[in-house]
Amino acid sequence: MTDVIVIGGGVIGLSIAWELSGCGLSVRVLEQGQFGREASWAGAGMLPPGNLAKAETPEARLRGATHQLWPDWSKGLTSVTGMENGFTRCGAIEVRFPDDGALGEWKNGLDGLNAEEVLVETLGVSEIKQRFPALSSEISHAYFLPDFCQVRNPRHLKALQIGCMMRGVELVAGSPVRKIETNGGRVETVHAGGINHRAAEFVFAGGAWTGELLSQLGIGLEIEPIKGQIVLLRTGQPLFRSVIQVGREYLVPRNDGRILIGSTEERAGFDKRNTAEAVGELIRFAERLVPGMKDAEFERCWAGLRPYASTDRPYIGRLPQLHNASIAAGHFRYGLHLSPITGVLIRQILLKQKVQLPDDCRVVPGIDPISFW
Ligand SMILES: Cc1cc2nc3c(=O)[nH]c(=O)nc-3n(C[C@H](O)[C@H](O)[C@H](O)COP(=O)(O)OP(=O)(O)OC[C@H]3O[C@@H](n4cnc5c(N)ncnc54)[C@H](O)[C@@H]3O)c2cc1C
Repeated sequence: MTDVIVIGGGVIGLSIAWELSGCGLSVRVLEQGQFGREASWAGAGMLPPGNLAKAETPEARLRGATHQLWPDWSKGLTSVTGMENGFTRCGAIEVRFPDDGALGEWKNGLDGLNAEEVLVETLGVSEIKQRFPALSSEISHAYFLPDFCQVRNPRHLKALQIGCMMRGVELVAGSPVRKIETNGGRVETVHAGGINHRAAEFVFAGGAWTGELLSQLGIGLEIEPIKGQIVLLRTGQPLFRSVIQVGREYLVPRNDGRILIGSTEERAGFDKRNTAEAVGELIRFAERLVPGMKDAEFERCWAGLRPYASTDRPYIGRLPQLHNASIAAGHFRYGLHLSPITGVLIRQILLKQKVQLPDDCRVVPGIDPISFW
């Protein structure tokens, strides 16, 4: 019998499969559509810095722990597959215009990072001009995060798929799990594509679809899709090399002159269409921030569905009352970044190893007695 069946082949499901297969477990991943083509493909690939040693909230601990893991995680994947995923320490600048009314938020962000002792440089107006000449001269406030990284997520997902296959993981596409059968406090089978799949352990990693799937077990985890639209432009020469952020909106430069403009946050159910209004606003945002982008070529746009958990943090751990079922879902805006630590935590839980993060991350309000990381 297969050791572990993972339901969902996004970055979370594939990272879990990669980690577990690396420990010698037999793993099968069931994906309803194509592997890595939902939120994980649509994302921008930003990987913000953290510092586990000084982190005081569950969010900061997860961020700090995953930040430590990324370089080796990436190297390990490349050494097995020979594929480059574009992981790079590109840095990010967080900026504000003087009139945008959100300087308090910018200052709080800076204070939080300083308290965490994350490497951060506050820049004066002349330094902004000198180091980021492409930025609008209106920008009045900026700090720079040298340890901010990025990954080309579509490439990373390809590498994960290849790496999993090389480790013997069975990747089954076009296999929507619709029915879950339990017996005596255990998941016995999941039905997908006309087949009953059995395993010793099951991990539910279905992104924005996970809440709906688990509702048939009477487990009320609220995970909803939040649509994010992205526009991709192309400039001849790269205009800048670091990520530029203004709160929740950003420009992510790829090293080939492409620039991603993101992103919206919309409650639109499972609708992934791009809208003229959102695309227009994103382009105007980019032009105001970096005036040179007016000449950029429009390449394409897309949208993805972030899995948002109403608890405001991902569910990673054992499901209640089921001895052989776990969940890893609800990573919202940070699933690419949190994928290595999620893989590691699920491995620690399944193999009954010491779980790496402290106990006070465990309780998720209203859903006791789930034992979470
Ligand atoms: C516009 C945008 C920008 C983003 N930018 C970033 C970023 O810069 N950095 C970052 O860290 N994160 C970012 N994110 C968030 C990140 O993409 C997500 O948090 C992450 O991809 C979630 O991964 P996942 O594997 O849980 O979900 P998904 O990638 O959605 O994968 C879930 C998979 O499960 C499958 N599935 C669902 N139900 C079933 C079923 N019943 N049977 C079989 N298969 C099933 C789905 O088909 C899907 O392939 C962004 C997201 C968007 C939309």
